[in-house]
Amino acid sequence: MRLVLAPLLRIMFRPRFVGRENMPAGGPCFIITNHCQVYDAFMVNLEFYDEPTAGLLTEEYFRGGLVTWMLRGIGVAATRKFQPQSTPVREILRLIRDNRMVVIMPEGGCNWDGVTLPTIASTGKLFRRLGLPVHPVILHNNYLSWPRWAYWPRRIRVTIEFKPPLFFTPEMTDDEVARMVDEAILWSPDQGLAQFPIEVRRGFRPATGITKLIFRCPTCGDDGSLREKRGRYLLCDACGSAWKVGGDSYLTNMDSGERRSSTAYFHKICALPRDLRDYGAHGPAYLRALDLPVYRETDSLHQTLLGKYHCLLREDRVELIPNGNGPPVDIPLEDIQTISIERSYKLQLRTEECLYQLNFGPGSALQWEYYLRCLHPPLGNMLYRRENNPCVAVPVF
Ligand SMILES: [Zn+2]
Repeated sequence: MRLVLAPLLRIMFRPRFVGRENMPAGGPCFIITNHCQVYDAFMVNLEFYDEPTAGLLTEEYFRGGLVTWMLRGIGVAATRKFQPQSTPVREILRLIRDNRMVVIMPEGGCNWDGVTLPTIASTGKLFRRLGLPVHPVILHNNYLSWPRWAYWPRRIRVTIEFKPPLFFTPEMTDDEVARMVDEAILWSPDQGLAQFPIEVRRGFRPATGITKLIFRCPTCGDDGSLREKRGRYLLCDACGSAWKVGGDSYLTNMDSGERRSSTAYFHKICALPRDLRDYGAHGPAYLRALDLPVYRETDSLHQTLLGKYHCLLREDRVELIPNGNGPPVDIPLEDIQTISIERSYKLQLRTEECLYQLNFGPGSALQWEYYLRCLHPPLGNMLYRRENNPCVAVPVF
């Protein structure tokens, strides 16, 4: 896998390495990085010739088959997103005992807008407890090379920066550790711009998938009227606004000529007010999605298709109304323990008894995740930590 992937990554993204002198010479140690893609760990690995790094990947890749077999073969273990449990910790301890260099993504999942997410608490605890050197790596412009919402990669140059190692002691608080980790791997598209210019060679159909990220019209706020056109344009049928999308994921307004990053537009629509809408026979809801395949998982990794449902996000619950026969499913917001998205379209709601997976296809699972987090604050508002972290401020316009 490494033999195939490494040359491909070099051709596509012409990686440039900065701070080679900070690269660890061997384990046991941790390597941490900002997380935008499935291939992040391979990017970090490109210059480790003697000994490859080891790490954890989300359980989605461990549902059996060839990929699972290959990943296990190179020492990658499965982890559940945003779910503190003992198995991944045990796996990490095993790798550390084998003197491996363990790659960890402290964000817990790929970010959607390029801006590094806050460190999950269990990671900070682990670093503090083990006291091993932690080597931060920043993957600059890597987000732009294949944003999570995009269907196709772009030929954008990626800079891999190795920073001096961090050391933690058991006496430090979890907050201190988290803050140091956050700062060490912080990246945002607008920050990256200043440090390493975006060198785009080619972007194939760069607008495809952008409505997963920009789920409402930035001009009029409507959330059913945006569409892509010919892979290059984003249009709103409600107000007539139009943007051209570049290979660098920047949007140029066709009327005013104003140019902004897709990240800045995403932050703009997240700040818009969210209102209950009247969906006729379905009644008032914040969001409605029709004909979604819904899966249910009870014991570990075994999924069953429940059927197709009309999904409604009500004030206090997610309501699933079956297309055919069968009982409706009600998921009260207060029963939802964690929420995550696999790939870019499978919304996962975990309750005490089971896990529901709503398959959004080309729709925006991100809009549902974001609204759910806003309606039910105990889920945590991961998209925003800008209030206490001024260095990741995204320009507001
Ligand atoms: Zn509009």
